[in-house]
Amino acid sequence: MERKVRVRFAPSPTGALHLGGVRTALFNYLFARRHHGDFLLRIEDTDQTRYVPGAEQYIIDSLKWCGLHVDEGVGVGGDCGPYRQSERKELYRQYALQLVGSGHAYYSFDSSEELDRQRKECESRGETFIYNAQSRRHLKNSLNLSPEETKQLLESGIPYVIRFKMPDCEELLLNDIIRGEVRFNTAILDDKVLFKSDGMPTYHLANIVDDHLMKITHVIRGEEWLPSLPLHVLLYRAFGWEDTMPQFAHLPLILKPVGNGKLSKRDGNKMGFPVFPMEFTDPETGEKWHGYKEDGYFPEAFINMLALLGWNDGTDKEIFTIDELCEAFSLERVHKAGSRFDPEKAKWFNHKYLIAKPDAEIAGLLAGILHANGLECEQEKLEKICGLMKERANFVSDIYNDSLFFFQTPETYVEKDVKKYWKEESVPVMKELYRILSEIDDYSFANTDKIISGWINEKELGFGKVMNPFRVAIVGAAKGPHMYDIIEILGKEETLKRLDKAIRTL
Ligand code: GLU
Repeated sequence: MERKVRVRFAPSPTGALHLGGVRTALFNYLFARRHHGDFLLRIEDTDQTRYVPGAEQYIIDSLKWCGLHVDEGVGVGGDCGPYRQSERKELYRQYALQLVGSGHAYYSFDSSEELDRQRKECESRGETFIYNAQSRRHLKNSLNLSPEETKQLLESGIPYVIRFKMPDCEELLLNDIIRGEVRFNTAILDDKVLFKSDGMPTYHLANIVDDHLMKITHVIRGEEWLPSLPLHVLLYRAFGWEDTMPQFAHLPLILKPVGNGKLSKRDGNKMGFPVFPMEFTDPETGEKWHGYKEDGYFPEAFINMLALLGWNDGTDKEIFTIDELCEAFSLERVHKAGSRFDPEKAKWFNHKYLIAKPDAEIAGLLAGILHANGLECEQEKLEKICGLMKERANFVSDIYNDSLFFFQTPETYVEKDVKKYWKEESVPVMKELYRILSEIDDYSFANTDKIISGWINEKELGFGKVMNPFRVAIVGAAKGPHMYDIIEILGKEETLKRLDKAIRTL
C-alpha cells in the first residue's frame, strides 16, 4: 500500500533559524503539499548544553511569518506526540537496549581521560583516533568484558555510553533522491554514541527512532547531514525497520555571495543583508541580528527567493506564488551543487512583489510608516503616490524615503542641484510660471501639460530651463517623478506656496 507522504522539519533550538534552515523547512513543506502529505515540526533538543532560550519560539514564529503551516508537531499537536525530544526522553532507552541485546550496540565505560590519552597517543604517531573496529578491541567496553564484569560496572553507577557497533569494512551503496547513488565504506566511520548514562539519547538515535515512530516517509535536510546517512541507514537495518525506512534527500549548501564556502551569519552583518527571517537578539552575547521581516521584505517574496536557491522548474520562470510552488516543486529538480546567495536578487524579488501589489495595499503600509514618523496623509493621495513611486522602489520604506517631499514642504534645497539648475535667468521664468499656475484651478496632469507645455513651446523656452528649477523649487532636489504628476498630487495651494518660497529664498 502507498504510504501517505509525511515529512518533518527537525531543527535543534540552538539559536535563530537562518536562511538555510528556512529553506529546508520550505522544501519539506512544498514536498508535503505537492504530495498531499503532512508537514511535521519536531524540536530536537536532546543536547541540553547547546539549548538557547527563545530559539524554539523563534522557529515557530518564523515559520508562521513565512506562511509555512505546520500540520502536526510542536505547537500544533498530533497523534505521534510529544514532538519535543526532551519530552520523549523515557522512550529512547528501550531502543538503545534493544540494539545492545541484538548485538548492534555495546556499552563503553572508557573515561574521558582514557579517551584523551588514546587521542594523544594517536596524534603522536601522526594518526587520528577513532573509536572503531580496531581500537574498540583495546578499550573498556562490553565487547571485551565478560557479562558479569559489564553487569557489575553498570550496577556500580559509573558513567557509560552506548555505542553503535559499526561494521568493519563494509561497502554501502545508498540512494539519495537528489544525488543518486552515494558510496560509503564503514571502515572510515566510528562507533557513534547513541545513548548516554544521563538518560539522554544522542541526535542519531533520537532522530531515527522518532522518524520511525512518526511514520516519516522522506527525510529532506541539509547536505551537512549526508555523512550521517550510512549510520542512519545501518540503524534502520539494525532495528529491522528497513521496509519502512524513509527516502533521503540532502539539499545543497547555500554559498556566500562572494568567495568560497557556506553562507554564514557573519556574512550578513559584514555585507549588510539579513540571514535570518526575523530579528534576533542572542540571549547570551546580546548580539543583534537583522531580519527579513523587519527590513521590509514581504514573506511571499522571501519564500519565492528561497525556493529558487537550489531549485527551478526547468524553465526561466522566477516568480512563483506559494500555490504555484506547491504545484511545481519536485526533489528531482533540486540541484546537486551549492547555490550562491545573492542579496541584490533578494531585493529584486521584493521589488517584483511590491509592484504587483494593488496601490491601495501599499498605501496602507506607507500610512503606517508615515504615522510612525508623525505624518498623516489621506488614502486617495497615498494611493496615487504609491502608484507613481513603486516602480523605483524595492521596499515600502524606499517609497517613504523618496516621497517625503509630498508630505513636507522642503526646508532646505540640495546645494549642488541649486547651483546647477537655479540660474539667475531662472527667476523671471519661475515668476512667469507662478503667474500661469495661479490662474488655473485644474491641476490634473492633462491640464498642466497642456498649459505649461503649451507656454514653453510658444515662448521657445526649452523644457530643461523650466522643469529643472521648477523641480528644485517643489521637491528641494533634482529628483522625483514627472513634475505634472507631482503638482497634480500637491494641488494648487501647496505648489504655489513652494514656488513662491523658492523665488523669495533662492
Ligand atoms: N536536528 C537536526 C538539525 O538541527 C536535524 C537533521 C535532520 O533533519 O535529520 O538540523
